[in-house]
Amino acid sequence: MSYATPLEARIAKKVTKAITDYNLIEDGDRIMVGLSGGKDSWALMQVLDVLQKRAPIRFSMIAVTVDSGYRGYRHDLISRTCEGRGWEYRIQHTGIGETIEDILEASETPCSLCARLRRGVLYRIAKEVGATKIALGHHMDDFVETLLLNLFFQGALKAMPARLVSDNGEHVVIRPLVYTSEADARDYAKASQLPIIGCCCPVCGDLSLQRQRIKRLIAELEVEHPEVKNSMLRALTNVAGRHLLDKRLNPLPELREAALAGGAVPLPLRRGR
Ligand code: SF4
Repeated sequence: MSYATPLEARIAKKVTKAITDYNLIEDGDRIMVGLSGGKDSWALMQVLDVLQKRAPIRFSMIAVTVDSGYRGYRHDLISRTCEGRGWEYRIQHTGIGETIEDILEASETPCSLCARLRRGVLYRIAKEVGATKIALGHHMDDFVETLLLNLFFQGALKAMPARLVSDNGEHVVIRPLVYTSEADARDYAKASQLPIIGCCCPVCGDLSLQRQRIKRLIAELEVEHPEVKNSMLRALTNVAGRHLLDKRLNPLPELREAALAGGAVPLPLRRGR
């Protein structure tokens, strides 16, 4: 069975590589796709649907939309599209938008609080629908932007994992678009005639947000260095811990000796393992 277009073939290849590299989907999985109606989540749903029909393993899918309660959010378009394509679908209406206004602290951005609240809802629904994995539409651009956001503004050298087990061990979050660019995801969602809708929240598209600034910075760099995003993504798979300053990765000699002697292991060493 061939792919519908070269773009679909390219994305399917990248997603298959991500699935293989990080063991994202296994035989018998029930994948719950977080479907906001944005280009990325549509692209993810579409490519997983294509791969499901071709994969040598069997897995099922259900799309789940968390409605934050913003006026004008066209969740009706999402449900109609899923029904039309025969995709199992569920929508959860919430008051997350109002909650953000009530509890947002100065130290937190609306998007990080929003992501945390939505994640909580997704975890609950995952249990209800019997999902074994939760698939999110973060793509390559999200990974490198998050890396720079943490580096520039949070004093941390981290991005996000392609596969994450929740703190309580009950959920596995996967990001199959890790090797797929935002531009490809957008083009694929459009070419697949999926209705791309906005989240309708007041901060969406706010150009003063740090993420928007990072996007501009990367776009500027790409003019001179088109491979800059690929290089950053490769860097995430090629970490030289001994060339960083984190003592958990590169302990001082006395801490290392204590650990090797089998004595009480100092906290920094324990936390780093
Ligand atoms: S733009 Fe709005 S809906 Fe999207 S993550 Fe940020 S706060 Fe949430």
